[in-house]
Amino acid sequence: MDTPTPVLETEVLIVGAGPAGATAAALLATYGVRNVMLNKYAGVSNTPRAHITNQRGVEVLRDLGVEDQVIKQATPQHLMGEHVYATSLAGNELGRLRTWYTHPHFKAEHDLASPSSVCDLPQHILEPILVDAASSRGSSVRFNTELVTFTQDEDGVTALVRDRLTGQEYGIRSKYMIGADGGRSVVAEKLGLPLVGEMGTGGSINVVFEADLTRFVEHRPGDMYWLVQPGVGHDGNGIGVLRMVRPWTRWVGVWGYDESQGTPTFTEEDGIRVAHQLIGDDTVPVKVLSISTWAVNDVYATDNMRGRVICVGDAVHRHSPMNGLGSNTSMQDSYNLCWKLALVLRGQAAPSLIETYRDERAPVAKQIVQRATRSAHLMPPIFAALELPPAPDENTMREAIDRLSEPTAEAGRRRRTFDDALHATIMCFNTHGVETNQHYTSAAVVPDGTPEVPAPRDEEVYYFRTTRPGRHLPHVWVTRDQRRVSTFDLCGRGEFTLLTGIGGAAWRTAAEAVAARFGLPIRVHSIGRGCDYEDSYGDYRAASEVGEDGVLLVRPDHMVGWRAASLPSDPEAALRTAVAKILGRETRDDMAGEG
Ligand SMILES: Cc1cc2nc3c(=O)[nH]c(=O)nc-3n(C[C@H](O)[C@H](O)[C@H](O)COP(=O)(O)OP(=O)(O)OC[C@H]3O[C@@H](n4cnc5c(N)ncnc54)[C@H](O)[C@@H]3O)c2cc1C
Repeated sequence: MDTPTPVLETEVLIVGAGPAGATAAALLATYGVRNVMLNKYAGVSNTPRAHITNQRGVEVLRDLGVEDQVIKQATPQHLMGEHVYATSLAGNELGRLRTWYTHPHFKAEHDLASPSSVCDLPQHILEPILVDAASSRGSSVRFNTELVTFTQDEDGVTALVRDRLTGQEYGIRSKYMIGADGGRSVVAEKLGLPLVGEMGTGGSINVVFEADLTRFVEHRPGDMYWLVQPGVGHDGNGIGVLRMVRPWTRWVGVWGYDESQGTPTFTEEDGIRVAHQLIGDDTVPVKVLSISTWAVNDVYATDNMRGRVICVGDAVHRHSPMNGLGSNTSMQDSYNLCWKLALVLRGQAAPSLIETYRDERAPVAKQIVQRATRSAHLMPPIFAALELPPAPDENTMREAIDRLSEPTAEAGRRRRTFDDALHATIMCFNTHGVETNQHYTSAAVVPDGTPEVPAPRDEEVYYFRTTRPGRHLPHVWVTRDQRRVSTFDLCGRGEFTLLTGIGGAAWRTAAEAVAARFGLPIRVHSIGRGCDYEDSYGDYRAASEVGEDGVLLVRPDHMVGWRAASLPSDPEAALRTAVAKILGRETRDDMAGEG
């Protein structure tokens, strides 16, 4: 690489300002790590793209202190859940699902799992929240600036970037570089990360438009309406989607196309026609705002880093939007990585801590891509159940749908097949376990010697609450001065936390000693009668799975790093061993900082 002498020096260079990159910039800035974030475009995402922001996604935003802004700007859960299948918005309803945990059974499980709620926050609204948080906390955000190439050596990374307004190229030197440059990642490609799967398994046209559809939807509010129509998809059999952007006046019409035939050209008139076809009423005034195409991919990287360059987000997992896992997983990648970078850069942890990002997040990438792909395969059986010829026209389709209502045994069989196929698609929207049960085995998780307990229910569907090391800290409400506080709010914000109870006073002394030894803060909270926080509802006692004098060591990313069932004879030694293992400092007591 012919790189000019770097004109800029920083601790972390972040390539990309989407959900993954902007979360990384905001977190690193919050943790006091100097960083520069590049976005090759002039601004943030100009189309809605991702929208489902699940509980774990909102929790990251809560930890960043921006959840209030999210709640103000997002569409809440109770307006998201009615997923109607119909021939068009004005046409016959074929069935409904209660999605995004709005079914009373799932609603209870959803509410018990987190202080945060799933919401619908389109990406063009999410990104400014993150970029604002990053820049107001000290991140240097450079729009119109593109990564051209980079090299790395033992001490850092040298990147060549181009200012797209002036054409000027200059160098940036950093200790680490994060590749958050999306589904066509240059960083992942240059690193030669091993990618498994296929790009361009499907194509979709997104027509963003304004139209007041209140009268069609306010009595059955949902964020997506699934419209079984001829002409959509790769063989003319498919489902068009009307996706709410703002209730009930801004929408995306989603129309599938065959990627293998190349990208179609779509005029404004085509956009209006598609919108009217999906609405089922061409008298509704429609104003097209934008038309774009996007490819559905089915790809994950089995490795996500090389040396000092680490990839997050779509750079290492690209998949169908089913289950809404894309931007959420991207934010969570950064949540996993950034505290590790901060500790290493401050000299509080060995560089090997960063390697645990690979062990912890690469399996998640595989899991979510496979889930999204399995979910996408749940849609075609709805169409197949209509037993249509390829490329049916409107009349053939109407007749097939009408046949579902005939009072014959044959029609009864078809009805059952159709209804079963339709209801099976709930797995495209209700996989609470996939979202909440992501767990880790790595050097940054210290086993407590207890045997693994199998989840009692399907781990893809149901949240499995446990404090076993490597699992997410359970949320329960505790109280202080009579006010409710989530256990999540006792932890995080870049620091380790010890949670203990009555009889756990010795953990406080142990934490002070261990914190002094490693030069990093460890906060301690006691929970129970007369403690820092009251276990007023009695929920923490059950959820903690340790005795009152036991302890949970919670990592900055809310994952349980280690636990002790009771107070050992030497709590300081026990805690020191666990913290040393997580920090990778077993053999070195003193470390030179990177920064
Ligand atoms: C239509 C659609 C619907 C979706 N729906 C959902 C959903 O409901 N829920 C969900 O969770 N996900 C959804 N997704 C997926 C979601 O949009 C992505 O998963 C998410 O944007 C990934 O975030 P990212 O930050 O990794 O990448 P991106 O958002 O793609 O951001 C990449 C960034 O890198 C920058 N960049 C790229 N190359 C360079 C370079 N060389 N130099 C400098 N900057 C560069 C870009 O400008 C951009 O800022 C959807 C996607 C699409 C297309």
